[in-house]
Amino acid sequence: MNRTEFQARLADVRGVMFDIDGCLVLSDGPSGHGGNALPGAREAVDLVRSTGRTMAVFTNGSMQTPAQIGESLRSHGLDVRDDEVLTPAVVAAETMQALYQDRPLLVFGGTGVRDDFERRGLNLVDLDRALAGEPTNAAAVVIGWDTAFGKEKIQAAAEAVLAGAEMYCTSDAPSFASKQRLNVGVSGFIAAGLSHVTGRPYRVLGKPSQEAITVLAHRLQVLPSQMLIIGDDLTLECRMARTAGALGALVTTGTHSAADAAITPQDQQPDLIVDSLDDLVELFTLASEDTTARLG
Ligand SMILES: [Mg+2]
Repeated sequence: MNRTEFQARLADVRGVMFDIDGCLVLSDGPSGHGGNALPGAREAVDLVRSTGRTMAVFTNGSMQTPAQIGESLRSHGLDVRDDEVLTPAVVAAETMQALYQDRPLLVFGGTGVRDDFERRGLNLVDLDRALAGEPTNAAAVVIGWDTAFGKEKIQAAAEAVLAGAEMYCTSDAPSFASKQRLNVGVSGFIAAGLSHVTGRPYRVLGKPSQEAITVLAHRLQVLPSQMLIIGDDLTLECRMARTAGALGALVTTGTHSAADAAITPQDQQPDLIVDSLDDLVELFTLASEDTTARLG
């Protein structure tokens, strides 16, 4: 799709999802911790809001809660509300609630992972008792950003999975972009290990999963086809846009370049590649002028 076609399609977009790391901010750590807002990020967020579209920011990190991420983004001058922040942990809690209602869930991770489960009043297995060897009767095991996942947790999680619990993982991205160096992904590392130990597969709930698309569209209050999904990772945001039938844009301020996009498979091709969010702001502005001209 060329720029003119993309611009024309923007008129149909009712909700916009921004990735955080490498798209809105370049951080020292995950989910906008430290670091700086990237060029055009503030303007892009403001423009989405001022044109009456709904907005969400979606990181694949599950280290921090939406409130912590929202606060960090606002400290960079980005006008984002806490209820507009999505993480795989939010997707996990919403999905587990829909699938398992009040059945026991064995959830691994810190506050960033457990926060949304607790807010929803879901039935979480007592971790101390599980680690002491009590059967959990868990319907599902959810693996998030747990940096203290040692032998006892491997044992408890594996036993629950072998007893029939389904296994889920917040994200299995090997790493994510930051200023200094790549940050390794923790939850995928653990899930892959547990899969090796138990011989059972796991489902990823973060971007670009169908579960993430469903929760995102619900939060944006639009159909998947009315969404614009913007990010710096072909395998995450661009793949998600293709799967959802949404409009997808790659911004080359993070993980992937235009050269990467040129050789990427069809199912993760972006509809447009932009050098920065400044470029996207320009397209949005032109699209709004088009609409105004048509209505006028
Ligand atoms: Mg990113």
